[in-house]
Amino acid sequence: MKHVNILGIPFSIINHDYLIKRLSQHVQSAEKSFVITANPEIVMQANEHQEYKNHLLRASYITADGIGIVKASKILKNPLPERVTGYDVMMDMLQLSCDHQYSIYLLGADKETLLSTKNNIEKQFPSIRIAGYHDGYFDWNNNRIAEEIHEKKPDIVFVALGAPKQETWISQHIDQFTKGVFICVGGSFDVISG
Ligand code: UDP
Repeated sequence: MKHVNILGIPFSIINHDYLIKRLSQHVQSAEKSFVITANPEIVMQANEHQEYKNHLLRASYITADGIGIVKASKILKNPLPERVTGYDVMMDMLQLSCDHQYSIYLLGADKETLLSTKNNIEKQFPSIRIAGYHDGYFDWNNNRIAEEIHEKKPDIVFVALGAPKQETWISQHIDQFTKGVFICVGGSFDVISG
């Protein structure tokens, strides 16, 4: 995978469709994967906090969630093909999960938003397998959520804790899991919940 370095963050030179294809392959071969869709605020925060930057650097893919980052890559003469957003990736991965019976786990948002997200996903993708879900307001030192994910072994985990929490949570826990495609999806649950 080729990268373009923007303020110390290696963005993957990949378009949306190819990312979805790669993630589907990772699910099928039970390979762990960690996806970040980074906007300019994430890049700026990473430049101010080395520890956060180290969490980002653990990702398998960092895509540009913002036209400013795509423009910067063009100026650097190493263009990113397009914007790839967490919401768009989530919607296509939900469709694939429905078609191929991949199991999913939803982590994030407040309880009410999470439940309407789950209900709306079940309405739109009736044969989807939801392995579990948990809201995003929990005690950081409690490992119960990670233990549940470890036990249920979902194929895909959508993490909607907002930045910088979502990237940090995945980076700090991914070593505990044997499989799973972990995708940071920011405010996507708020959109899906309607
Ligand atoms: N969120 C959460 N736990 C937290 C903070 C935020 O679950 O401790 C959720 C919040 O409810 C929202 C989502 O994270 O559903 C995204 O928040 P925001 O829009 O601030 O993130 P962004 O999309 O800007 O990264």
